[in-house]
Amino acid sequence: MYYNSKTIVYFDGNFLRAEEAGIDLYGQSLHYGYSVFEGIKSYNTDRGTRIFKAEEHYERLKRSAELMHIPFDYKVSELTALTYELLEKNGFSDAYIRPLITCSPNMSLSKGQKSYLSLLAWEWGNGYLANNLKIMTSRFQRPNPNAFKVEAKVGGHYVNSILACQDAKDKGYDEALLLDEYGNVAEGSGANIFYEKDGTLFTPAKGSILPGITRQTVFEICSELTIPVKETLFKPEEMKGADAAFFCGTAAEIVALDSLDDVPFTKNWKDTVSSKVQHTYQKLVRGLSL
Ligand code: PMP
Repeated sequence: MYYNSKTIVYFDGNFLRAEEAGIDLYGQSLHYGYSVFEGIKSYNTDRGTRIFKAEEHYERLKRSAELMHIPFDYKVSELTALTYELLEKNGFSDAYIRPLITCSPNMSLSKGQKSYLSLLAWEWGNGYLANNLKIMTSRFQRPNPNAFKVEAKVGGHYVNSILACQDAKDKGYDEALLLDEYGNVAEGSGANIFYEKDGTLFTPAKGSILPGITRQTVFEICSELTIPVKETLFKPEEMKGADAAFFCGTAAEIVALDSLDDVPFTKNWKDTVSSKVQHTYQKLVRGLSL
């Protein structure tokens, strides 16, 4: 599904066939989840293929590596150029791009010694989540910020996301909503959350979330459209039965939520400011003016 015999990847300085890229059984990343990665999208626009917010994603990748003490010295401009080259070699335009930094063989619990950069891409049309998701409050909390660097996109953190997402699916929901250690709403398993009440948007403040690039884009759109938006801490009860809510993330884009714990969001989606934000986001990523 992600690759075939023709797929080209970038690995440790070379472009090669995905099938030829081996995995090191002794790598520190495989054993301990000690890797950092990004999720980026490219879009087919009037001006050709455009990677949305490449600079922001690669700045975050470098920051994640730094926070994890993984040596990594590629420049943002180099990473962006390599990604365009990868897309061209594969003939992709609307695609999902997965940069991944892994570490060399090392069974000790010390910092990474040598790192390897992989750039993978696969074709991807619309967001990975359908609209109108039924979500449930998860019994799995987001990682405690005193135990992890939650603002870094680290492989091992996603075990928490897998547990929460799978638990929600097993219970008949589409996705999970994870809380922080104090019971405040944090985020989805792979996306940030907003809810709407009386024309204002609310989203969890930073602290226990991955502060998403899409979340930041929503702030920019709100400023452009003069939609009030507040970053604050709140409990799930405060957003239940609100006018509307959505998840946002690079892969998810902006997806409407149908209900939280079976309590529906009440307003017709097309009459909400959230739907304006969704529409504007679609124009923005395709390089059209707001
Ligand atoms: N939270 C988590 C846990 C995520 O995995 C993601 C996806 N990267 C997001 C939020 C949204 O981040 P972004 O908008 O930068 O994709």
